[in-house]
Amino acid sequence: TQADVRLAEDLARRAAASLDNGRLYMEAQDAVRARDTFLSVASHELNTPLTSLTLNVQALRRDLEGRSAATPEALGAKVMAVQRQLTRLSSLVRELLDVSRITAGRLRLEREELDLAALTREMVPRFSEELARAGCELRLDAPGPATGHWDRLRLEQVLQNLLSNAIKYGRGKPIELRVGADDEQAWLVVRDEGMGIPPEGQARLFQRFERLASERHYGGLGLGLWIVKQIVDALEGRIRVESAPGQGSTFTVELPRQKAR
Ligand code: ADP
Repeated sequence: TQADVRLAEDLARRAAASLDNGRLYMEAQDAVRARDTFLSVASHELNTPLTSLTLNVQALRRDLEGRSAATPEALGAKVMAVQRQLTRLSSLVRELLDVSRITAGRLRLEREELDLAALTREMVPRFSEELARAGCELRLDAPGPATGHWDRLRLEQVLQNLLSNAIKYGRGKPIELRVGADDEQAWLVVRDEGMGIPPEGQARLFQRFERLASERHYGGLGLGLWIVKQIVDALEGRIRVESAPGQGSTFTVELPRQKAR
C-alpha cells in the first residue's frame, strides 16, 4: 500500500542520515587523531634542537669559565652547532606560522619581475654546508634567463624546501637542479637518486601533516610540501612528482610567467 511505501521511504531516509552521521563522526575522529599526532610530532621536533641547544650552551659556558681546556676549534664547532640548531628552530616556527597564515587565507604575494635561474644560482651557495654534511654533490643547470612575475621570498621557500628534501632523503647521491623556460612558463626540476617514494605515498605527499618516512632520523613536521603546493597554487602553477622506491624522486614545478587575467 501507499502507507507501506511511505514507511519504507522514511526508513531508508533515516538509515541514510544515520550513515551520514556515522561518516561525519569518523571524519571528526580522524581529524582529532591527526591533530593529536601532529601535536606530539611537533613537540618532539621542537624539543630535539632545544635539548641540544641547552647542552651546547652549558658546555660553552663551562669552556668560557675556564673549567675545561677547550681549543678555539672546539669552541668554534660548538658555536656552529648552536647556530645550526637555531636555524632549525626558526625554520620549524616559520613553517608553523606559514600554516596559520595560509589556513587563515592570508598568503599574500608580492609579485615582481624575477629571474628564476639567477635566483636559483644565488640560493645554491647557501646549501654548501648542508650538502657537504650529507656528502652530496649538486649539479646545477640553470643558464637562464627564466623571467616572470613572481614572489621572491615564496620562490626561495619552494626551492629551499625541495632542495632540503632532496638532501635529506637523497642518501648522499648526486642531486640535479635544473631551471628552464619557454614563452609561457618557467620550470624548476629537483632530482635526487635517494630513497624514493612508493606510488601509494605520492598522492598523499602534498597533504598537510603527511610524513612517509616515519624514522625519527628524518626529522620534519610533514608541512614543507603542503606549503610548497599552496605557494605554487597561489602562483597559478603546478607541481608534480615522479618517483620509484630506491631509485629517487624528481619534483617538477611549472610556473606561468605572467599572472592570468
Ligand atoms: P618533512 O618536513 O617531514 O620532510 P615534507 O612535507 O617536506 O615534510 O615532506 C613530506 C614527506 O614526503 C616526507 O616526510 C617524506 O616522507 C616524503 N618526501 C619528501 N621529499 C622526498 C624526497 N625527495 N624523497 C623521498 N621522500 C620524500
